[in-house]
Amino acid sequence: MLSEGEVVFLLDVDNTLLDNDRFVADLGARLEQAFGANGRDRYWAILAALREELSYVDYLGALEKFRVGLDDDPDLLQMSAFMLEYPFGQPVVLSDGDVVFQPRKIQRSGIWNAVEGRVLIYVHKERALDAMERRYPARRYVMIDDKAQLLSAMKRTLGPELTTVFVHQGHYAAQYAAQSANTVIDPPPDLEIERIGDLLDHDLSDFLAVSPIGITVTNQERT
Ligand SMILES: [Mg+2]
Repeated sequence: MLSEGEVVFLLDVDNTLLDNDRFVADLGARLEQAFGANGRDRYWAILAALREELSYVDYLGALEKFRVGLDDDPDLLQMSAFMLEYPFGQPVVLSDGDVVFQPRKIQRSGIWNAVEGRVLIYVHKERALDAMERRYPARRYVMIDDKAQLLSAMKRTLGPELTTVFVHQGHYAAQYAAQSANTVIDPPPDLEIERIGDLLDHDLSDFLAVSPIGITVTNQERT
């Protein structure tokens, strides 16, 4: 019989705990207001190119590149403040992201304190599960995320010791819903919820029951 202390709950940040889609929409509106539609589009293009290079979204790095030729524009300094001070809202954490903006988001939203600093940020979290397990050894894990493919990749590595919970929030979840008729997610999420608050309708036994230990899994993706 497992007690609560033997289970680690892993929570994603963007579009799971924080409404990152809304941040992106607000940022776009703000950029347009300050630099016009062309300026906004130039920033999005720089951000997209940088993402190809780095594999994570670097809002501040893109702003540094966007800066070229705009050094005299006071709106530029307002823009970095807008990003760093953005009120990300309510709050624990296994996240992908950069090493400056992503931790700052998590701190400012209160999530950092809520989880007493138990925050892991990787470039690809599904490839950093050995490191995660060393930091937070447990018999069972529950991962809550808005990306079904990522949950599936983690499940293929961790097997039944991981319960996956797919949250239908944000544009990745919507994309998945639109494609799911012709996209097979293998294995599918163990549990699906509409909103992060719906977690409160479940207790620990619900999360463990949907991924019973004893089923066989292929561990070939484990590195
Ligand atoms: Mg996310």
